[in-house]
Amino acid sequence: MSGWRDPERWARWVVGDGCPICRSVATDAPLAELEVSRLMMSEDAPMRGYAWLPFRRHVVELHQLTESEGAAFMRDIRRVSRAIAAATGAVKLNHEIHGNTVPHLHLHMFPRYPGDPFEGGPIDPRRIRDAVYRPGEFELMRGRVLEALARPAA
Ligand SMILES: [Zn+2]
Repeated sequence: MSGWRDPERWARWVVGDGCPICRSVATDAPLAELEVSRLMMSEDAPMRGYAWLPFRRHVVELHQLTESEGAAFMRDIRRVSRAIAAATGAVKLNHEIHGNTVPHLHLHMFPRYPGDPFEGGPIDPRRIRDAVYRPGEFELMRGRVLEALARPAA
């Protein structure tokens, strides 16, 4: 559901008042701190190897970034994209920026696989019902992503 159905709360969140992603940035441990964003992964993911990158400071839209922040965010995205591709062996990565639920700039990264439930179309996380990791598999994935992240770009 879109966050703007509650206009008062939406107006507060737009300016960062009570923003759930700001709260996450303050309290949740990332897999890695990047230049201007954080690499977040969790076991309850909609797709194996799914990651999301919240921008570290509260900002809503890409055009509100300074030139240097925009360039740094793209470096973060490209660095993680390279690592997720290497760690997952995905045939394609989907990158999505919405912010319809929480107006704080963040990017979703969905690895795509042959035969995945959304082949031929976009991911709909609301339609994911089953766990995507077998027991112990998420820890292995985290390790592979961190290892790939540490490798310099070719
Ligand atoms: Zn925020």
